[in-house]
Amino acid sequence: MYCLKCGYNLFGLPRHVCPECGNAFNPDDDSTYQVSIKRRKYIPFWMPCVLAFYPLLPSVLVYATWLVAGYHLGREPKAMADDPNQLGGMVPIFYWAAVLSQIGLIIWAPLALVSYATYGLRGREDNRWIRVLMLLLVAAVTIGVLLSLIWSRIGYWFLD
Ligand SMILES: [Zn+2]
Repeated sequence: MYCLKCGYNLFGLPRHVCPECGNAFNPDDDSTYQVSIKRRKYIPFWMPCVLAFYPLLPSVLVYATWLVAGYHLGREPKAMADDPNQLGGMVPIFYWAAVLSQIGLIIWAPLALVSYATYGLRGREDNRWIRVLMLLLVAAVTIGVLLSLIWSRIGYWFLD
C-alpha cells in the first residue's frame, strides 16, 4: 500500500493521511492508494544543464576546423580562396562535423526551452526557477560566443 501521489509507504500508519504529502487514503478502497510502488518521476538537473552548453559544440568545431585547416596549409586560411572541402587531411571531417552541429541548433532551441520548462515544473530542487534563469543566461552566453565567432574572420572563412 503506497501513496497515490508520492509513493510513500503507507503500511501501519495510525492516521489515513500520507505523512509525506498529506494525501488522504482509505485502506478499504483500493482506488485511493497504489499496490505497487511508483514514485513520482523527477527531471534531473543535469538534463537542462547539458542542453544549456550545447552551442559551445559548434563553436569548438568551427574553431577546430580553422586550426586544422591552418595546420594543413601551413598558414592562415583565406576566405574565398581556401575551401575547407577542397583541403585534404582531416579538414573536411571537421568542417562537416561543424556544419552538422550547427544544423543541430534548429532542434536544440525548442528542445532546450521544453527541458527548462519541464525542469521548472517537475524538478526536485526548491530553487529550480532560479536555476532555469541561470541556464537561460548560460545559453545566451554560449550563443553569444558562437555568434561572435561567426562574425569574426574565422566565421567569414567558414561560411563563404
Ligand atoms: Zn504521499
